[in-house]
Amino acid sequence: MSYETSGTPSGPCPPRRPPRRLVAGVAAGLGLIALNRHLVASASAGADDPAATREGTGAHGVRETLPGTGRRLALTFDDGPHPAYTREILAVLRAHGVRATFFVAGENAEWQPALLRAIADEGHLIGNHTWSHPRLDRLPPADARDELARTSDAVARAVGTPPVLARAPYGAWSADTLRAARELGMAPLGWSLDTDDWARPGTTAISRTLLDGARPGAIVLAHDGGGDRTQTVAALGYCLPRLLDRGYALVLPPAG
Ligand SMILES: [Zn+2]
Repeated sequence: MSYETSGTPSGPCPPRRPPRRLVAGVAAGLGLIALNRHLVASASAGADDPAATREGTGAHGVRETLPGTGRRLALTFDDGPHPAYTREILAVLRAHGVRATFFVAGENAEWQPALLRAIADEGHLIGNHTWSHPRLDRLPPADARDELARTSDAVARAVGTPPVLARAPYGAWSADTLRAARELGMAPLGWSLDTDDWARPGTTAISRTLLDGARPGAIVLAHDGGGDRTQTVAALGYCLPRLLDRGYALVLPPAG
């Protein structure tokens, strides 16, 4: 049985689907999702945002690049874990001896504790990407907190410790949801380099975006779930040796 409906459109952080059931593809509204994503991205870019005052941070002070200097990159994968693609990504990372961060959705994580343990056992970091992938900033504060808390509980049940990093779907934090994340022991993490792999532009395009956009300190956004991630897996296999050849170290972001 397939994990997802073949041909189901994907998004940057696509709406979550019940993981164990096939759901009919939802085409309506995808354009709005894509548009919305770009609006959020530009709103969170921080260029004109008075909150973007600390180096490496954007709106609300969310970290978007690694602190310090040097040729270091942090790879992050959102929307998983996925029973196929996450394991394929783990294999690529293992082949090159590098670590990454996986921001998991609770509804995917709760029924795959062994996969969560595999991620952690291989030295990767597990972050919180909410339970059902909503726009946190549009939820009542109690519901937003519950999205984060339930996911942290699911991760803790699987691997023994709750996440210390959180990423809001679409990067759409608010002051209330950031406070909730911090009260739950998590720091928010954004990104500086979006591979746009969610749109499935092709392995070559994803690779070009990653290799051309790589800068010291970049935090790279990619996806291991939320749709067919075959292109992401292939691009990672192509890019990782080249990034390492350029002298980049692939690192985990700081917890705070
Ligand atoms: Zn997402």
